[in-house]
Amino acid sequence: MLQEAEKIQEKKVLDKGFVYLVDIMGDDSSIVQAARVSYGKGTKTVREDRGLIRYLIRHRHTTPFEMVQTKWHIKLPIFVARQWMRHRAASYNEYSLRYSEARDEFYFPEETRIQFQSRGNRQGSSSEPVPEDFQKTFQENLDDICRKAYDCYTHLNDLGLARELIRIFLPVNLYTEFYWSINLHNLMHFLELRMDAHAQSEIQAYGFAIAEILKEKLPMTWEAFEDYVLKGQKLSKQEWNLLQKVMDLEKLKSYEENLEAAGLSKGEWRELLEKLKGFEQSPAIQKI
Ligand SMILES: Cc1cc2nc3c(=O)[nH]c(=O)nc-3n(C[C@H](O)[C@H](O)[C@H](O)COP(=O)(O)OP(=O)(O)OC[C@H]3O[C@@H](n4cnc5c(N)ncnc54)[C@H](O)[C@@H]3O)c2cc1C
Repeated sequence: MLQEAEKIQEKKVLDKGFVYLVDIMGDDSSIVQAARVSYGKGTKTVREDRGLIRYLIRHRHTTPFEMVQTKWHIKLPIFVARQWMRHRAASYNEYSLRYSEARDEFYFPEETRIQFQSRGNRQGSSSEPVPEDFQKTFQENLDDICRKAYDCYTHLNDLGLARELIRIFLPVNLYTEFYWSINLHNLMHFLELRMDAHAQSEIQAYGFAIAEILKEKLPMTWEAFEDYVLKGQKLSKQEWNLLQKVMDLEKLKSYEENLEAAGLSKGEWRELLEKLKGFEQSPAIQKI
């Protein structure tokens, strides 16, 4: 039984990495419980709990999500850890290469990951096929450099030179590990940014692994997060104006009879119609 639970909490990522949920304090009901402090005793059934969580995410009432605290053990290449640690609203404790010896563990990307530089996106990779000999050159060079770097590191380590200095021989595809403590609000912010198609594929892979675990642990919150954040859209004024020109409001209203099939509650339907009345609901903003 314990083994099953452990499986849910750990996911392998890349060739040697993993995410492991060490601890979680709280669940969907803790969010509801915190929110009820502000909204009173009104919502009691499971269906109402789901509705309340959806309402909170939809209206960015975020503090109840801060009541759920998570702690993770993450193993990842150093270049991914650099991106990860830009997320300041969390606590980290990392494996020390001043104190401990580096292990011979480097990230070797799969062949399909060896891609050309994207022409359209300066931060991205292209889906254009890469000739086999280019991939081979990449792999041989990476193998060679990691081997030489590690041999050099172990030789200097054997000579007794300081580990805090000899680590500068090691490339950024070396694996590191850290403990990461983060509340659910900040974790969802991290996932929104790092599961996005614009994020680097390696950190995306970690995001998706964390997502699988969270989905099991917090099904209602995850569903709402997916609906309103991951798969929802925010439009600019110009985009919205353009869409309004081609939108058939009368046709849309015919769906009112069948809201369940559209997956909308009455409240969401009402809010949708309000949004459609103008770009922003606030009359003050409309005057600007
Ligand atoms: C696709 C992508 C590309 C990126 N490219 C680059 C890049 O080229 N160069 C680069 O340097 N970074 C880059 N980043 C990192 C990015 O700029 C953020 O540093 C990172 O995503 C962390 O986001 P955050 O600050 O919202 O998160 P956190 O640090 O976790 O902060 C959470 C929230 O707390 C608040 N906050 C925290 N600290 C402060 C503060 N000091 N002042 C005000 N508010 C604060 C903000 O509201 C913030 O959103 C990139 C990120 C992504 C996802």
